[in-house]
Amino acid sequence: MKRLVVFLFCLVAAAPASLAKPSVTAARVGPHPDMTRFVLELSQAPAFEIFTLQDPYRVVIDLPEVDWRIPPEGVPRGKGVIEDLRFGLFQPGRSRVVLDVKTPVKLRKVQILRPDGKYATHRLVIDLQTVSRSAFRTKNSRKIVSRAPLPAIQAVAGPSAPGKPPSDRRPTVVIDAGHGGVDPGATGVSGVAEKDLVLQYARELRRQLLAGGRYRVVMTRDSDVVLPLRRRVARGEEAGGDLFISLHANINKSRRVRGASVYTLSETASDAEAEALAAKENKADVLSGVNLDGQSPDVSMILIDLAQRETMNLSKNFANTMVGELGKSTRVLNNTHRYAGFAVLKSPTVPSVLVEVGYMSNRKEEKLLRSRAHRKKISSAIVRAIDNYFKSHG
Ligand SMILES: [Zn+2]
Repeated sequence: MKRLVVFLFCLVAAAPASLAKPSVTAARVGPHPDMTRFVLELSQAPAFEIFTLQDPYRVVIDLPEVDWRIPPEGVPRGKGVIEDLRFGLFQPGRSRVVLDVKTPVKLRKVQILRPDGKYATHRLVIDLQTVSRSAFRTKNSRKIVSRAPLPAIQAVAGPSAPGKPPSDRRPTVVIDAGHGGVDPGATGVSGVAEKDLVLQYARELRRQLLAGGRYRVVMTRDSDVVLPLRRRVARGEEAGGDLFISLHANINKSRRVRGASVYTLSETASDAEAEALAAKENKADVLSGVNLDGQSPDVSMILIDLAQRETMNLSKNFANTMVGELGKSTRVLNNTHRYAGFAVLKSPTVPSVLVEVGYMSNRKEEKLLRSRAHRKKISSAIVRAIDNYFKSHG
């Protein structure tokens, strides 16, 4: 038996290194008088695509799917022209690092350095130089790619949602777990990321809806990937959605604030807090380094057409039903149903609501939010609201 174990171990150890995911073991920022150097240390020389974006200015570094082995405390703070940085999966096969930069920059030099006497790792070295706004706009060589290319980006993160089979007459509920990949969303007091927390809620809600057999369920994402807001809305429509529920968790400067809340789309916000929340949630694409192709990421001024009015009324009805049901199961905010210009709720045809399941900045509530029992409770309240809604609108 012992010999067998040893033999298996040898098999694993002998697997060719090229099959293993490259790992990133260190990241450094070095400010210099005339440029800022960003260095990633990797176990192998990676393929890469590096480009800049504006509104706001960012540098995006795409790599093959890598194992990010840098502990949170090892991630460098902003220095030089780099203000902040994030890392995550962009889509299966492609990892992404986003650098927020204080000024427009150009990629002055990108190089891969092989292991040498001093370093045992491969290093991807990127030199960023501040340029004027006009130089940034006129420079056309803003993308630098390695000789071995990365796999192409699939039509913005994965296939379309499956359409509804004509024989299936059940209503379709679309569940949208907020954030994902390089955009973690808010961070709870225990360190839990909103993107992970809400994916668990989305899966529990799906489980309960499917168990009842009365609904078709489509998830906009079921893994830790980036999904642009426009794609989330499009997936809801392609799936023939009858309801779209976007799941989020909130934070507040005041750690005492707690309770769930439900939001619908509106041109004018119900209150300043809802407006600020919409602005924050609408930033997801910016944080993920999604190229908006000239579209402004600022969607706070959302134009709503006539076709949307009826959908908005249905959304409001559903939101009110949901507030009633959530209130029976958990603490809710005052004026629980609020509204603002959320980009993810902008479908003209699919009634859509956004639920903030609670505050991750409140220690007690965060603990509760992470528990399986609470997840089940919130999900069954949402299921009851869905049942009530289709009883009167189905
Ligand atoms: Zn969110």
